[in-house]
Amino acid sequence: MEKSMKPVYIGLDMDGVIIDHTLPKIRLAERYGITITPEQTPSEIMKTLLPAEAWKELQHTLYSDPAVAFASPVMRGARPALRELSEKRIPFALISRRKDPEIAKTLLKRSGLWGAFFHEENTFFVSAPEDKNVRARELGVTHYLDDELKVLDALAQVPNRYLFDKYGAFGERNTYPAIHSWQEFLMTIDLL
Ligand SMILES: [Mg+2]
Repeated sequence: MEKSMKPVYIGLDMDGVIIDHTLPKIRLAERYGITITPEQTPSEIMKTLLPAEAWKELQHTLYSDPAVAFASPVMRGARPALRELSEKRIPFALISRRKDPEIAKTLLKRSGLWGAFFHEENTFFVSAPEDKNVRARELGVTHYLDDELKVLDALAQVPNRYLFDKYGAFGERNTYPAIHSWQEFLMTIDLL
């Protein structure tokens, strides 16, 4: 049997995987007088560079302030990859910890992803990393792509977990297969 014939169900994180916040994060950090590089924008790295209160405030602005929240583009390669998954009839779901689902959905709509790839039946909003695991298990997710190690650590019921590390910034800290692009992800899971 070919590998591609095994049932595959892909779980996807939204921020840092489907949506690219690199530039807004660099700009927002400047408001706090902190200059960061693209390599320092992954959340688990960036949060160590700002005071805790500033990081919390920055995240709120990034995800919930309409003046900022709709400025982040779709991650390069995500759209063709989602099209590829759809054409191959590989099921996928978005599981996000966003606190304001309406803003998240509006961003997906404005990006042309809502309706085309995501809809009420395959888009879920949860609170904690552990809740992602529960939802992934309920759906039967076999492969999960996230840009945070702590989330991947919590996804104990998902057999295949991948770190989306666009900039190769995690290095040795990462114990999961590192994925640098959407194309690499599809190749890694034998879909290209
Ligand atoms: Mg993320």
